[in-house]
Amino acid sequence: MGQIRILSDQVANQIAAGEVVDRPASVVKELLENSLDAGATRIRVEVEGGGRKLIRVSDDGQGMNRDDALLAFERHATSKLRTADDLLSISTLGFRGEALPSIASVARVTLETATGVENKSGADGESSGSGTRVEIAGGKILRVEDAALPRGTTLAVGDLFFNTPARRKFLRAEATELAHVTALVTHYALAHPEKHFELVSASHSIVSAPPVARTAERIYQIFGKEMLAALLPVAAETPLERSGLPEIPPWSKSPKDLPRRPGSLRVTGFYSKPELQKLNRNSIYIFVNKRLIRDRLLLHAITEAYRNVIPPTSFPVVLLFLEMPPEEVDVNVHPAKTEVRFRQQTLVHDFVRDSLRTALVKARPAAGFLAALDSQPSASPSLMPPGTSPIPGPPGASAFRSSGRSGEPEATPFPEPDSDPAAMTASQIDAEPFHLTTAAPTPVPGNLPFHPGTLEQESRQEAVAFDRQKSREVANAAFQPPEPSTVEPCSPNGLGLSSVDAAAAAALVEAEQAAATLNRLGLLKPLGQLRESFILAVGDDGLWIIDQHVAHERVLFEKILRERKIEQVQRQRLLMPLLVELNPEQMVVFARIAGELERNGFEVEPFGPQTLAVKAAPVGLEGADLERTLSEIIEQSSAESDEPIHNEELTRLRSRIAASIACHSAIKVNTPLDPKRIEWLLLELAKTSHPTSCPHGRPIALLYSWKEIQRAFHRI
Ligand code: ADP
Ligand code: MG
Repeated sequence: MGQIRILSDQVANQIAAGEVVDRPASVVKELLENSLDAGATRIRVEVEGGGRKLIRVSDDGQGMNRDDALLAFERHATSKLRTADDLLSISTLGFRGEALPSIASVARVTLETATGVENKSGADGESSGSGTRVEIAGGKILRVEDAALPRGTTLAVGDLFFNTPARRKFLRAEATELAHVTALVTHYALAHPEKHFELVSASHSIVSAPPVARTAERIYQIFGKEMLAALLPVAAETPLERSGLPEIPPWSKSPKDLPRRPGSLRVTGFYSKPELQKLNRNSIYIFVNKRLIRDRLLLHAITEAYRNVIPPTSFPVVLLFLEMPPEEVDVNVHPAKTEVRFRQQTLVHDFVRDSLRTALVKARPAAGFLAALDSQPSASPSLMPPGTSPIPGPPGASAFRSSGRSGEPEATPFPEPDSDPAAMTASQIDAEPFHLTTAAPTPVPGNLPFHPGTLEQESRQEAVAFDRQKSREVANAAFQPPEPSTVEPCSPNGLGLSSVDAAAAAALVEAEQAAATLNRLGLLKPLGQLRESFILAVGDDGLWIIDQHVAHERVLFEKILRERKIEQVQRQRLLMPLLVELNPEQMVVFARIAGELERNGFEVEPFGPQTLAVKAAPVGLEGADLERTLSEIIEQSSAESDEPIHNEELTRLRSRIAASIACHSAIKVNTPLDPKRIEWLLLELAKTSHPTSCPHGRPIALLYSWKEIQRAFHRI
């Protein structure tokens, strides 16, 4: 007899469950997506024990009749797809028909659903109540009955993995699982501001977001004013026709499958001002057609947009919503649907990079003086890929732990482990652990809410900048271990935030953002220098403090790049060649980048086996500075491969060379400047495309705004 057997449905479902459901958050994700697909406008998620004990998702969507309620648990049963061709243009979040059978095979599930119309599909064909209740455990249907229910669907998932103990073992502490669930609900709430989202854990409200008109208001509702104030909006659109002839997708059978109207590619969302920096990419949220995804291509595009605006080791906070015709994106590349493939990858990548970059150049956000005081790159709480925590948390850690570096893995928008090891940095390992529910300071009327959920840590940081008094309260709250039973999670809900408040606050923040732009740099009246290092200048909006060295560095950096582009870098001959000693490894690196160095104004020749003779150098670079620049460039280039340099590496090399030359030839600190030179520097700085930060990402100009000054003097 042969050895091969066809697996029972039950086993097949459990195997599929391995891909689709690996923790409570992934169950929540599937159920949320189903509710959204069902057209729900109000979605409530309740969890107990971080979702391990119970997850209940209720919606007011279209519901199911009795037949569908049963069919929904069959493998590959879906109402969202009929033919393989439908796969080419999926506009729903679900389509695989796998989630419900998978979940039901590893948990105890109760489905309650009603369509809001008479349910006539009872066995006897008679009208049979207005809804259906189905109970399933471990894939076995235990009970099906009619029930009087309002329109909509409630799915309760209890005892996750009760019949698969091996998987149960992989679940983390309650706090961690809850953090993942919170991250997920938060993100879907951001993508759908017009819908009402609630997350309740053990009867504490964690997220409460009534419908609002705009994403800005939703950000305010969820993260608070400080986060919104640190973000700037971006919106851009490009017709897809202009992008050249679309390729025929590989799965397409004939050219007629191509979309007739290519439509357009749209990007909207928010990105952080340069002063808000994160130690990893986990504060970058990307939605494609309202689906939360992880995509290296787009992460790369975003990093590129911020190149030389923030340090290469820092990452911004970005909420990006991409919209495109469904034909342009293949969503069927990952069982959990967290990855997609774009048909026109390069186009999407470049469009995202350019839109963000353009928005940054245009807005030229001014860093607030107080905000900058506390702006160290911080680890956002949604950092660590699950299961990769170097310091496992103590057993039984609860959601209400107060502080310390005990390191539960952080929540990520995605339940599965991060496959990108490059995303892990040493500093990330040092990241403070995530605390979901430290006690909120008692809300003071008129005060804005402190933030719940996943971005609490960064919000804590910005709160410091925004309001030192409040931050002290927050810090105190964070360090006093509260009684679990009395803890109120930080929730704007507790403040009874109406959507009108949210709209007003969002508008206020936007007005302040519009005021604080570096476009005014050229109009400032210089007052003089502070310790011959910082320029003081006044404008209508407040007092400006400008770091003369980094300001000049930015001016030179952009000038060098410009001149390099047209092959016109100005060089000066040295009276005496400068001899530079290198070790053999550095000589190899030098040989590799010699051509590019020459195009940047260096005339360098080998002078013996381990010595270089520099005969000419870029204007402004002399003596020790010249030597330092050269060895810095060689040092920084050594880590890269020994393949011939091209494209992206070349761009990076160019900007490194420009940054290095700029840094070593710029006006130094402790240098007196006469008023003419100060004026010249401010005007030149105003002309740069990024007067915000030096090529290494340090801030150039800080604004002590009129408002902050008034506040500090207790005038407002
Ligand atoms: P998929 O979402 O990929 O179609 P699922 O297993 O998640 O597969 O769900 C199966 C089907 O059950 C869906 O196609 C849908 O018709 C129905 N369904 C699931 N959840 C809901 C809900 N909350 N409201 C209405 N119908 C639902
Ligand atoms: Mg689904």
